[in-house]
Amino acid sequence: MFRALFASLLIASSAATGVSVDSLPWKERARRGVTPSPEASLRAHVDDWPEEPPSPTNVDRARFEHAIREVCQIKPKAASTLAGHILESTREFGVDPFLVGALAHRMTRCQPDKEDLGGRGLTLLPKEFFHGHLRDGAYRYHVAQRGALVERLLPMPRFRFGPAKLFRQEENVYFTAALLRVLEEQHETLDEIFEQEPHRHYVSHWIWGDKVRGARAEDRVLTDRRRLLEHYGSHRGPRPVRKHGLELGPPLEGSPRVVSSFPGADRDQGLRRHRGIDIESVRGEPVLAIAAGVVTFSGVDYPGRGTARTMPKAKANAVPSRRMGKGGRFVCIRHDVDGPDDYVSCSMHLDRIEVEIGQRVALGERIGTVGRTGMRVSSPHLHLEVIRNGRRIDGSKLLEDFLVRHPPKYVKKRKRPLVASAAAR
Ligand SMILES: [Zn+2]
Ligand SMILES: [Zn+2]
Repeated sequence: MFRALFASLLIASSAATGVSVDSLPWKERARRGVTPSPEASLRAHVDDWPEEPPSPTNVDRARFEHAIREVCQIKPKAASTLAGHILESTREFGVDPFLVGALAHRMTRCQPDKEDLGGRGLTLLPKEFFHGHLRDGAYRYHVAQRGALVERLLPMPRFRFGPAKLFRQEENVYFTAALLRVLEEQHETLDEIFEQEPHRHYVSHWIWGDKVRGARAEDRVLTDRRRLLEHYGSHRGPRPVRKHGLELGPPLEGSPRVVSSFPGADRDQGLRRHRGIDIESVRGEPVLAIAAGVVTFSGVDYPGRGTARTMPKAKANAVPSRRMGKGGRFVCIRHDVDGPDDYVSCSMHLDRIEVEIGQRVALGERIGTVGRTGMRVSSPHLHLEVIRNGRRIDGSKLLEDFLVRHPPKYVKKRKRPLVASAAAR
């Protein structure tokens, strides 16, 4: 009797993650019930996330433009145009402009001509959403109300809908804002009708359609939203934390960030162990100094053991990735510490290095950008090693205030009857 409200969309989640696949030995051991893979703990549960920061009520155009420019890494003129479209359409539909900006960045890095994952344009807007729902300039959708499904209409008069138009930035942003309005109203109904993986935000349905199969995609969009709010200046991000004589801050913007791999995980089919933590991130994101200190290494890892060479950043940035060893381009900092222990952190696989050896860096200062230099198969991410008195330690514990590193505790929500009285009818 009940037709799907939206076409469910499958997303190839591995394409957007920095997660390496478990290697066979771990799977074997897990099957024998000996040791679970450390990678198994990479998924962050919905309850582990703090509440999302609110958006400002009156958004300042210039500051919003600046935030879009910084996060999207586009030219000022392009940022101004995009920010203008976002502000106009989100005002029209009463939607959070920072959410639309985050979708634009997460889906296409703010490029309007993309087509992927069944979606089109800047936000990879799933054109199936509109199939059969948009007639005479109004979108028809259903919301559960007092035990019945009630039809609602949302007029979308400014543009005629057409799949080809989704490649145009202004139209895409307009229909994106409209659909987010619909999803916000409809998401409780969807959650009641379809069995869901636990999720926090209606934006999950943008990615998955009716039935949400995981919360990682929404985490990434909301991370980008926090980055935008930090650049806008209404959200300060986490305060520095004092620990073991160090004053610590986050390694990336938009905290908390997800750790996708811990020290000890197998690499190269069990031939070696992972020596640091991997933090999910996208290429080009700024990498920040986790504490003040002095740069002790800034250069390139070459194939073989003990072959890393420090060099001026201009030279290091010109080395092609294919010539590098596993660490790629990287930076190490010896941190200022008020105590007997010696702490060094190294940020690896950098796309670009922005500091020179011997340079003093402040807590939170940019030292480079996220990349995938030296990697063979993984997608871009930040690999961070923390070394105390010459020995590698689990950096995720030291930086736990800025990371999500809890083991999974998924409880599948049971599918409930549609709506009590509607089911009885
Ligand atoms: Zn939902
Ligand atoms: Zn790593």
